[in-house]
Amino acid sequence: MKKPRVGIFKLTSCDGCQLSILNMEDELLSIIDLFDIAYFREATDRPLKGEFDISLVEGSISTDWQKKEIINIRWRSRTLITIGACATSGGLQALRNWSSLEGYKKYVYQSPEAINALSTSTPISDHVYVDYELWGCPISTHALSETLVSLILDRKPVIRKYSVCMDCKKKGIPCLLVSKGEPCLGPITLTGCGAICPSLEKPCYGCFGPKENGNIESLLRMFKNMGITQQECIMLLDKMNTYTYRKVRIEQSS
Ligand code: SF4
Ligand code: SF4
Ligand code: SF4
Repeated sequence: MKKPRVGIFKLTSCDGCQLSILNMEDELLSIIDLFDIAYFREATDRPLKGEFDISLVEGSISTDWQKKEIINIRWRSRTLITIGACATSGGLQALRNWSSLEGYKKYVYQSPEAINALSTSTPISDHVYVDYELWGCPISTHALSETLVSLILDRKPVIRKYSVCMDCKKKGIPCLLVSKGEPCLGPITLTGCGAICPSLEKPCYGCFGPKENGNIESLLRMFKNMGITQQECIMLLDKMNTYTYRKVRIEQSS
């Protein structure tokens, strides 16, 4: 059987999701033989050539050339999968969408005049059709291997849609929101990490993005009743999934 040709691409991102792929170790070794990794700049220097059965894209669209690059990648790909919050939601760099690019450039770079970027950072799905979206900062490698193996078997990947709270319940982790009054985003956040933060007694900050039909306003009302200010509530949501949280809030209020 001909192995599916895979390309792994990077746009604006920190490389963390690609490093997660390299860190898959045993899991990666057991599936790697099923695929022909034809393009992966993080791991090899093979040039970009030909078409791909599966393309994994890390990073958001933050520059003009990336707008053209993602169309080029889409044309070359039978199945396109976004990996991580940057590609799926615009990433932390989308904070500039609600502020000034020039302001951020001044704080982040020593020579801001050398930076040629768009005034917004947007997810891949704003530009081209995306077949599957893998959330997280970084992604869940379990979700990635499930998706890749499903494509080989020609079946739909099983991606769980419930909230982080369900993982806490399954693992018997005491609820930080109820027992300690900590502002935890678990009730509105998509599962995928196995409730890592609550298991370490830290509230979830929503890195897997909004769960479908999560009641964001109701949770924010609860936070306000706990004494958290409106500004603090906005800051809780304005992280790596800021673009999607704001979009979902607008949709839910209309
Ligand atoms: S989603 Fe997070 S880990 Fe992945 S590339 Fe973006 S910032 Fe890095
Ligand atoms: S700690 Fe957070 S994620 Fe866990 S059950 Fe409580 S609210 Fe949900
Ligand atoms: S608990 Fe929340 S913030 Fe922590 S890794 Fe999971 S989804 Fe991300």
